[in-house]
Amino acid sequence: MDEMPHVEPYKKFDRALFVPAKLKFPQRPTCIFCGSKAVEYHGYTPSTLKHIAADPSFPVFIELKKHRAKCLTCGHCFQAEDADLAPKYAQKN
Ligand SMILES: [Zn+2]
Repeated sequence: MDEMPHVEPYKKFDRALFVPAKLKFPQRPTCIFCGSKAVEYHGYTPSTLKHIAADPSFPVFIELKKHRAKCLTCGHCFQAEDADLAPKYAQKN
């Protein structure tokens, strides 16, 4: 329903563009704390990111929902970006 880009007032702005997005695990993740594969998906964590817009009076926000998982072994929760970014940084260095 609410998955389309939409324009609405936001804080001090008369209008702002909101773009929904989802960040999912590319595959079934392993726990970033203990390495266990026994994880279950645990909903999404919503966050709003400001995008750099050409017109400062008409900002763009990304409504990002991050896929969340819970480790059944150690009980920690982690998000899609955590599992995603760790290997990328490791490869660069
Ligand atoms: Zn764990």
